[in-house]
Amino acid sequence: MADCLFCKIANGELPAEHVYEDVDFVAFEDINPQAPTHVLVIPRRHIATLNDVGVDDRDLLGGLLDAGIRVAQKLGYAESGYRLVLNCNADAGQTVFHVHLHLLAGRIMRWPPG
Ligand code: AMP
Ligand code: ZN
Repeated sequence: MADCLFCKIANGELPAEHVYEDVDFVAFEDINPQAPTHVLVIPRRHIATLNDVGVDDRDLLGGLLDAGIRVAQKLGYAESGYRLVLNCNADAGQTVFHVHLHLLAGRIMRWPPG
């Protein structure tokens, strides 16, 4: 999608600190980190929100989660723990309308989240 920030990061038009990529997904460091490790994992394909995920996208959602788990493991957080978060629309605080999985790690997370 032409005007989407994360599509531009995925296709290399905009810079980011990439930590992982494959044919379907890209992971890069969040520009405003909320934890010592804050990585965003996105599908290369533009999907605005979780509400736009179709039944045909179940493999894509599974792959997104799997990529987040693999990055967390690669960064050494398998044992200490990590949090994976998906925000949908205003009440959840979604600000970029290209589906993204937050990987947060490196500190103790509170519950419930703010
Ligand atoms: P959300 O609030 O769930 O939509 O998350 C959007 C995230 O994108 C926020 O944590 C922002 O800090 C992050 N973000 C915005 N612009 C950039 C950018 N250019 N590079 C990396 N992360 C970004
Ligand atoms: Zn996009």
